[in-house]
Amino acid sequence: MSESRSPSEKNLEKKLYEGKAKILYATDNPEILLTRYKDDATAFNAQKKGTIAGKGQINCAISRHLFEMLESAGVPTHFVDCPTPIEMRVKRLTIVPLEVIVRNVAAGSLCKQTGIELGTVIEPAIVEFCYKNDDFGDPLLSEGRIYALELATPDQVEEIELMSRRINELLTDFFKQCRITLVDFKLEFGVTSDGTIVLGDEISPDTCRLWDDTVEDPKARVLDKDRFRQDLGNVEGAYQRVLEKVVAIA
Ligand code: UDP
Repeated sequence: MSESRSPSEKNLEKKLYEGKAKILYATDNPEILLTRYKDDATAFNAQKKGTIAGKGQINCAISRHLFEMLESAGVPTHFVDCPTPIEMRVKRLTIVPLEVIVRNVAAGSLCKQTGIELGTVIEPAIVEFCYKNDDFGDPLLSEGRIYALELATPDQVEEIELMSRRINELLTDFFKQCRITLVDFKLEFGVTSDGTIVLGDEISPDTCRLWDDTVEDPKARVLDKDRFRQDLGNVEGAYQRVLEKVVAIA
């Protein structure tokens, strides 16, 4: 192994898992993992694939700022630091196999599955759980199904819902200062070795719907992965705009 390789390059030989948007590596510390954010984009359960130039770096930076903001407000997250602009060191967690969706405004599958009109304000916000399992297409779960599948305990579900509502308040306020509406988003949680529930994964335009409050046109105001899903164009520009607004406030 050449000594000229950077510490993060050395981790390439310890790849644990490659997901759609990030690669996970082991590090020399068993409690710490390294995630490398990718430019690859997928939608519709990976039926649509593409690349968004610079996405990895932008999403890493946005997630970093948002994790730091949440930590400073007392929300435990897996964030440790960013050794390079596309890499984030995180605490090792046992991931709870739930995708927690929080909805402030109707969009996406909520509209498709229920007929609620796009843009309808949802008050109080909906917190719902999907099964994190691509083979089944991440289906919406009932609480009964969560317990039947033993995905989480009732106490964990209660705590995850409370944390998600708190995170929603903090993120909604933060994005309001950026003049962005936080329409909906997805969170993932994990458990540390001492049993603490901690926010994991990422918070970025890949996982949130974000509408620019300074723009009227419904398509032009979309600053998130819907630009990729719906072929609205200038995906990189939209992600970059979110980063600029987040940095200006953080
Ligand atoms: N989401 C995500 N990963 C998923 C599914 C959803 O990050 O596997 C995010 C999505 O970007 C949106 C929110 O969760 O911000 C709600 O998504 P929805 O259920 O409406 O799904 P979709 O419109 O993608 O079918």
